[in-house]
Amino acid sequence: MSRVQSVRSPRLTYLPFHQPSIGQEEINAVTETLRSGWLTTGPRVRQFEAAFAEFVGARHAVALNSATAALHLSLEAAGVGPGDEVIVPTMTFTATAEVVVHLGARPVLVDCLPETLNIDPERIEAAITPRTRAIVPVHYGGLPCEMDRIGALASRHGLMVVEDAAHALPASIEGARVGSISPLTCFSFYATKTITTGEGGMVTTDDDRFAARVRLMSLHGISHDGWKRYTSEGSWYYEVHEAGFKDNMTDLAAALGLEQLKKADAFRDARADIARRYDAAFAALPEIALPPRDPRAGHAWHLYAIRLRLDRLRIDRAHVIAELKARNIGTSVHFIPLHLHPYYQRTLGARPDDHPVASAAYARLVSLPIFPGMSDDDVEDVIDAVRGTVERYRA
Ligand SMILES: *Cc1c(COP(=O)(O)O)cnc(C)c1O
Repeated sequence: MSRVQSVRSPRLTYLPFHQPSIGQEEINAVTETLRSGWLTTGPRVRQFEAAFAEFVGARHAVALNSATAALHLSLEAAGVGPGDEVIVPTMTFTATAEVVVHLGARPVLVDCLPETLNIDPERIEAAITPRTRAIVPVHYGGLPCEMDRIGALASRHGLMVVEDAAHALPASIEGARVGSISPLTCFSFYATKTITTGEGGMVTTDDDRFAARVRLMSLHGISHDGWKRYTSEGSWYYEVHEAGFKDNMTDLAAALGLEQLKKADAFRDARADIARRYDAAFAALPEIALPPRDPRAGHAWHLYAIRLRLDRLRIDRAHVIAELKARNIGTSVHFIPLHLHPYYQRTLGARPDDHPVASAAYARLVSLPIFPGMSDDDVEDVIDAVRGTVERYRA
């Protein structure tokens, strides 16, 4: 039996790389909060924190205005300061490393594993010095790092682990949700992430002191939460205990986050479904290496990053992206490794050939659209555009 492949016409409208999934529930929740008269940190934030802590299985969740703030305050709570070194992957967004600099410490960039693009545990071990204080693993694309190995080497060397889980909601390792594994875990609710509050982030921890410290430093180092001061149960009195920051989440954002969190598992299932369809289609294209899977891990599928086999193509990655754009498909690149950026070259002495695995992967990476609002036709359009591009430029 032969199957006639229908010839699909080229896509006429632009498919963005990402679109947040905002439903009527989110709109209602934010509108109600606007009408409630309480806009900044208040009852919605407390509800969001409680729901989030339960969702990942952590004792505490502290809501903040970004994952960058979450990373900053987590490392601060962990005691990172001047003279310390913090190990971070080079294959990440600059936020992971810049917060180390803001604490007066030095980020130490480490190369990634060739398959998962997650930080390489052996190279972590090689980068440890007497000044090393913490490790910040990033779960690239939503596929969890080998946290058993990283956790074991951290305790062997007396180091703190702060997970950058900006891509990893919801993700799990052998049934344990990311957010319940390490002493501190940081999530992002930026507009392109798996759930969004516009801008927002969360720290999860089981440690009462870490939670209290992050909370204190997130709001000016003031001992009482602002909203309690102005309710009948509170009072006008407060004390400043530290020179803190202004990193708190608004109730408007939390109202949005509460509704998004209810959908987080369904969003993930929709992304996993798209990933399966991409895998099935691209397995037939020798020009493309598929993103890896790990049977022990629950993948958040925040990213679907293909790697081009450049030796089988007559064009480079930039040209592939331009070709996909001409076919009305938006893409992105995750990431330009930190050691290739001028800032880290200038301040850390990083050189382009420092981290060959990340550099080689970078030249080949293209992130394709993967978001729950994509229609079946959208997914087919991406597949057609990728297939059409590699078939046209096959070496
Ligand atoms: C998006 C992202 C961040 C920063 O998140 P914000 O909420 O925008 O501060 C940090 N790390 C990684 C790996 C990210 O992708």
